[in-house]
Amino acid sequence: MVKKKNIVTIDGPSGAGKSTISKMLAAKLHYTYLDTGAMYRVVGLLVERSGLDLEAENTGKKLKQLLDTLDITLASGEEGQETRAFLNNEDVSDAIRTPEMAMVASRVSAAPEVRKKLTEMQRAMGNKNAIVAEGRDMGTVVFPDAKHKFFLDATPEERARRRHTQFLQNNQQVEFEEILAQIQKRDRDDSSRSLAPLKPAEDAVVIDSSEMNIEEVVSFMLKTVHQNQK
Ligand code: C5P
Repeated sequence: MVKKKNIVTIDGPSGAGKSTISKMLAAKLHYTYLDTGAMYRVVGLLVERSGLDLEAENTGKKLKQLLDTLDITLASGEEGQETRAFLNNEDVSDAIRTPEMAMVASRVSAAPEVRKKLTEMQRAMGNKNAIVAEGRDMGTVVFPDAKHKFFLDATPEERARRRHTQFLQNNQQVEFEEILAQIQKRDRDDSSRSLAPLKPAEDAVVIDSSEMNIEEVVSFMLKTVHQNQK
């Protein structure tokens, strides 16, 4: 397999610092940043609004029809801000960034129709641009031929602490224990689903960022990419 030199994948569980780090790395490499979690959240919102119950039987066809109407646009937010997301031209950036929508995104992400659709959209972006793609299955499923793969991890407590600080900064009052419980549930669900489960690709460099700051992680990744590029 010929490896694609202009694709960097960063997978890992929620709260490991993927978004901030991927965005900074993309800026340093002059690559486009692709936030695939935002895409799953947008689909979560679309499904939620449609009232479609994914647990019910025979929803596949309706889900497919709904996905046919899907138009997602992502825009890198300001520095320190999360990706801005548009669903059929409506700005849904705030609506998708709630703890509830994270859980909905995790639920819809187990549906094969959803994964197929978003995988196609993500590959199309990778074919057009040099990208830093962040998510759960970037190195394993979507871009198995990427030359640079990372898996970013940290302890659940550290990840919950980081998420809690983020929510407080955005004036969202959420209990630390609630965030920790949700992170643990999402870890379990994301890692145990049969389709594209969360796990490091065999050729990924695994980084535990529990005791590293953002700059340290970015500079380690940058060095690794440059070394690999030769
Ligand atoms: O990264 P973020 O927390 O925004 O992702 C929300 C959810 O979307 C994750 O918990 C996961 O279930 C799903 N997701 C996924 N595959 C990706 C990115 C996100 O299944 N590549």
